[in-house]
Amino acid sequence: MTSFADRHVGPDDDAISTMLHAVGYASLEALIDDAVPESIRQDDILVLPEALTEAGALTKLERFANANVQAAQMIGQGYYDTVTPAAIRRGILTNPAWYSAYTPYQAEISQGRLEALLNFQTMVSDLTALPVANASLLDESTAVSEAVLLMARATAGAGTVVLDAECFPQTLEVVLAQCEAVGVAARVETIDEGWTPTADVVGVVIQNPGMSGVLRDLGPHIEATHSAGALVTIACDLLSLTIVTPPGEVGADIAVGSAQRFGVPLFYGGPHAAFIAVRAGLERQMPGRIIGVSIDAEGKPAYRLALQTREQHIRRDKATSNICTAQSLLAVVASMYAVYHGPNGLRDIALQIHSRAVTLSDALAAMGHEPMHEAFFDTLILHVPGGADSVVARAAAAGINIRKVDDDRVAIACDEKTELATLDTLVEAIIATKRHPVYTAPRVAIPRAMRRTSEYLTHPVFNTHHSEASLTRYMRRLGDRDLALDRTMIPLGSCTMKLNAAAELEPILWPGFANIHPFAPSEQTAGYRHMIEQLEDWLAEITGYAAVSVQPNAGSRGEYAGLLAIRNYHLSQNQTGRDICLIPASAHGTNAASAVLAGMRVVVVATNDSGEIDLPDLRAKLVKHAGAVAAIMITYPSTHGVYEAHVGEVCAAVHEAGAQVYIDGANLNALVGLAKPGHFGGDVSHLNLHKTFAIPHGGGGPGVGPVAVAEHLVPFLPRVRQGIQRPRDLMREGAAVSGAPYGSAGILPIAWAYIAMLGPDGLQHATQVAVLAANYVAARLRDYFPVLYSGANGLVAHECILDLRELTKATGITAEDVAKRLIDYGLHAPTMSWPVAGTLMVEPTESEDIAELDRFIDAMIAIRAEIAAVERGEIEASASALRHAPHTAESVIADTWDHAYSRESAAFPVQALRRDKYFPPVRRIDNAYGDRHLVCSCPPPEAFED
Ligand SMILES: *Cc1c(COP(=O)(O)O)cnc(C)c1O
Repeated sequence: MTSFADRHVGPDDDAISTMLHAVGYASLEALIDDAVPESIRQDDILVLPEALTEAGALTKLERFANANVQAAQMIGQGYYDTVTPAAIRRGILTNPAWYSAYTPYQAEISQGRLEALLNFQTMVSDLTALPVANASLLDESTAVSEAVLLMARATAGAGTVVLDAECFPQTLEVVLAQCEAVGVAARVETIDEGWTPTADVVGVVIQNPGMSGVLRDLGPHIEATHSAGALVTIACDLLSLTIVTPPGEVGADIAVGSAQRFGVPLFYGGPHAAFIAVRAGLERQMPGRIIGVSIDAEGKPAYRLALQTREQHIRRDKATSNICTAQSLLAVVASMYAVYHGPNGLRDIALQIHSRAVTLSDALAAMGHEPMHEAFFDTLILHVPGGADSVVARAAAAGINIRKVDDDRVAIACDEKTELATLDTLVEAIIATKRHPVYTAPRVAIPRAMRRTSEYLTHPVFNTHHSEASLTRYMRRLGDRDLALDRTMIPLGSCTMKLNAAAELEPILWPGFANIHPFAPSEQTAGYRHMIEQLEDWLAEITGYAAVSVQPNAGSRGEYAGLLAIRNYHLSQNQTGRDICLIPASAHGTNAASAVLAGMRVVVVATNDSGEIDLPDLRAKLVKHAGAVAAIMITYPSTHGVYEAHVGEVCAAVHEAGAQVYIDGANLNALVGLAKPGHFGGDVSHLNLHKTFAIPHGGGGPGVGPVAVAEHLVPFLPRVRQGIQRPRDLMREGAAVSGAPYGSAGILPIAWAYIAMLGPDGLQHATQVAVLAANYVAARLRDYFPVLYSGANGLVAHECILDLRELTKATGITAEDVAKRLIDYGLHAPTMSWPVAGTLMVEPTESEDIAELDRFIDAMIAIRAEIAAVERGEIEASASALRHAPHTAESVIADTWDHAYSRESAAFPVQALRRDKYFPPVRRIDNAYGDRHLVCSCPPPEAFED
């Protein structure tokens, strides 16, 4: 029977022989022996369970899911049950056109998801009544962190940030740790009627509705704060803003929160899209990705990433944030939820939720249980003197989870699924007798001054697709504008765009995984915790570290968690002066940005001509900063795609200087089963489960960035305080880095299934073939484009950099021209101009079969021939198809054609395209124009008319 490994790994034995032949090797083993330095090699078989079949893995996952108890989840605290419309579930969440796409750096082939994300921004901007929103942050707690840092930056920093005591406790944990790391003073205050800020305050965060459900009139607080020269962030409930006065209308500078309840399942805590919106004047300070509107080469509107788009890649330690992978797919789901329901539908949902809460409140008040607040949206706090435990237990026994506030109070949060019958059950649990409650006519428990009167979501996109037929076609139309893995290989270096197997993905929407609240009682979540522990242990075995935490919900968060562990370890050793992080010039931009967030100073280490860390420079820096170096942060294999032979020396030198070694594990796809960073010198690594371990990229997220550490750093792993602690969590005292105890727990079944189905041999084989594929591409293209860096024996690791700089000098044709021309060939470009400007970095992964690899290689060879025509002077660079790429259908059938090349060569540069042609919807996009004319919400339909 065909094993899963045979399905996952593209090339079969015959293809592997052909590829080996092209590279000049007789066997995979011989190739790997020559490619991977002896000094780090460790290919004794991984101690992991034997590979399961797809059916076998699903059976096991079913057992985990069944060991989680489903209940009505009325705990609230930032997570609310919601109905994912079936059409969106099928059209987006289970549709590879959407989930297997990459971050829209190549805007011309990403117009569909860019539109969906622009809808998200428009929705957030409308609902918060603030003009500029971004295209998602990782979760509500980190969004508040980002807002706090933004306020500190915008007010030049020196001063205190006040956090509302009504903030969710998980948010306070994350934010206070972040403030401590970067030295921003922060304190928690009760923001009640008489509150005013003291003179030292530079920013205030208010949660409204608060943790207790209370809705407050914030006008006076905001006025007082502004007169003190400080900024205000409101952490809000996006759905409530359909009926509650939005932050922008009460003068807030920033609004943040979660878009989870817009159709995204609870997922035991994540992934969910968080949002941030700012007032005019703060947009250039905003963290994360912003989608903007620009124009293409024909002057037509086109979307692309705006402003600081790749800012941490460019601005490094000066970046506004370290966020890279965000929560695109979930932002798309939330935006489609708004598109489907429209403004009236959303208002109806909000009003129904509110009226359930009011109905319950009134019925209980009539029975003598006074609610704590008069003004609320969906959450009530009830006094049950001395009876909280028994009320919570009775509710749980009846299948409803509510929250214990203290011995005398419980909290109940209503949601889209709350039925009147649910209220009956709750009343019974609270009064402990069977008595039918009397429901009075619904009223609105929001004081008039706090009710929203302004319009929102007036754009046609939110008022058109309300039938399933129309929505289905809209999702299809947008999906068809894009290139994702369902159409082409995506050879993006450093991104590891491999197969996301359907069997890995199927379980995540099972109710036993999808409908679990992150703070559900421990006896209800045994399945999740068991699965997570197994996954953590497997990842520890694969990486050679002592322990792993899955809490970080992206690689960037893993970096932050790992660096904080290092910092706190040094402090525990009384090494108080160690605050420098050495980072090679070639490092991923998140590394430097994360170091800053962890309170470190960045010192750059040079790389030499062969792309390796310059040992003499490293030694010099270690001497110069003796006693002050906290860590070095290296990527292995390096971001140049090379296994550096002297990595052992690098680690030894750093350790000798008393510093720690952080190995960025984003390139683990070149190591699994062959070498372990925890054994060749690393003290900490983060992994990217959305790269190596098959979690789909979702068009820019979700991700999971587990942090793995050696024994001495285990106590500094992220803590779990909110929710359930496992025995192993009791030993982890580090800073919380995500709001949910286990981060994006809902997508962990994907990585679990990946490892379980490949098994130890399959994992190793996948790595070997990934290395073979990169070397195959390098070997076949070397005569056409120089391969910039290689290691021992002229071999690369799992990716290779094609150097176009000489060609650019000679012909004017740039890496960007080649990237855009590849679109005409129906291919997604490699990583462009990173880590070396003017180059293309190709990472084919193990999943591409030889036919697809050859399609890419042949396209690159054909493009080289097009460049040769420019070289020979037959055509000007500015007149070539390369410069005018990509070509839309409209452009090649236009009545007039005044190009120096034919329509045929523009549209069908190779024969196979005649039948299966992808036409991009826009021509090449003008990035500079979009940054000069910043538009970050949906343009009116007239903009698209001729
Ligand atoms: C992708 C990547 C990261 C960042 O990971 P995110 O999940 O996008 O935050 C860090 N380092 C390297 C080398 C990467 O390739």
